[in-house]
Amino acid sequence: MEKKNIDWSNLGFGYIQTEKRYVSNYKDGAWDDGVLTEDANIVISECAGVLQYAQTIFEGLKAYTTEDGHIVTFRPDLNAERLEASAKRLEMPVFPKERFLDAIDKVVAANEAYVPPYGSGATLYLRPYMFGSSPVIGVKPAQEYQFRVFGTPVGPYFKGGAKPLTIRVSDFDRAAPNGTGNIKAGLNYAMSLHAIVSAHAEGYDENMYLDPKTRTKVEETGGANFLFVTKDGKVVTPKSDSILPSITRRSLLYVAKEYLGLEVEEREVLLEELGDMAECGLCGTAAVISPVGKIVDHGKEICLPSGMTEMGPTTKKLYETLTGIQMGRIEAPEGWIRVIK
Ligand SMILES: *Cc1c(COP(=O)(O)O)cnc(C)c1O
Repeated sequence: MEKKNIDWSNLGFGYIQTEKRYVSNYKDGAWDDGVLTEDANIVISECAGVLQYAQTIFEGLKAYTTEDGHIVTFRPDLNAERLEASAKRLEMPVFPKERFLDAIDKVVAANEAYVPPYGSGATLYLRPYMFGSSPVIGVKPAQEYQFRVFGTPVGPYFKGGAKPLTIRVSDFDRAAPNGTGNIKAGLNYAMSLHAIVSAHAEGYDENMYLDPKTRTKVEETGGANFLFVTKDGKVVTPKSDSILPSITRRSLLYVAKEYLGLEVEEREVLLEELGDMAECGLCGTAAVISPVGKIVDHGKEICLPSGMTEMGPTTKKLYETLTGIQMGRIEAPEGWIRVIK
């Protein structure tokens, strides 16, 4: 298979149209067989549920080339399960797990020319999503839905090394108690746009959202979960019902415990205890871990001892172990790597 002539190492994180995408339609209470299509455009009613009332959910995962030349995905079964949870919360039909996995495999295989080579740092980012496609004007769930998966090649997240981020404690909230913070819904992102644009305008890389009820506990950023390392070497992640359960964060906790022998804790993390932390990182599929160097709480600076030039030592070990597992350099736990080719 001849690869596309793309400068893989200099790709950014943007949309590049690839050849084939998967589409399946839900109508009269059932999903059709689904097909790969070359048509990258969607024609739907002007009154579609997604356009009027934001009935849409999504997932994000990557396909990449391992050291021994296989094309694989990382824990796609967890993306299928999370999409199911998201669908149920927004009164959408479930797309069956086996079919989800098959759709991902098909899109990757059909766009093999766009799967970046091993060592480039680039990956084929996959975007499964589902939306209400039939007309809805009185507020209720749509009757018809479309499930799609497309792929787009994306570059290495950290070009020239991971520079620690500066983040601010946000006055905006991301998710209400008992709201939709724990599902991957487009609406969670729409309402975070103003917060992130204003954070960037004020010179911050990201927002740290607190629990909206008491505003004393750390939740997550707009699109990544927090991992902290305490000064006595424990790996701690916030526990809350309104955090999106990141697959990267869950995998890193397992790696911390089972590969690195570290003590791990999933518990409430108070804003006022951040001064006791040695390291902080943001976890998500795109970057695996982005180190945080400074947290600004309304003018009060919390500077992590790991500093502003490099990842902290434990964060770095976690990053290297997980990316080693993903790239096939370190043996993976059973069921983590799905080989497509
Ligand atoms: C997708 C997402 C994450 C990261 O999840 P991964 O499965 O690790 O990619 C974290 N927070 C939010 C709000 C998200 O939408």
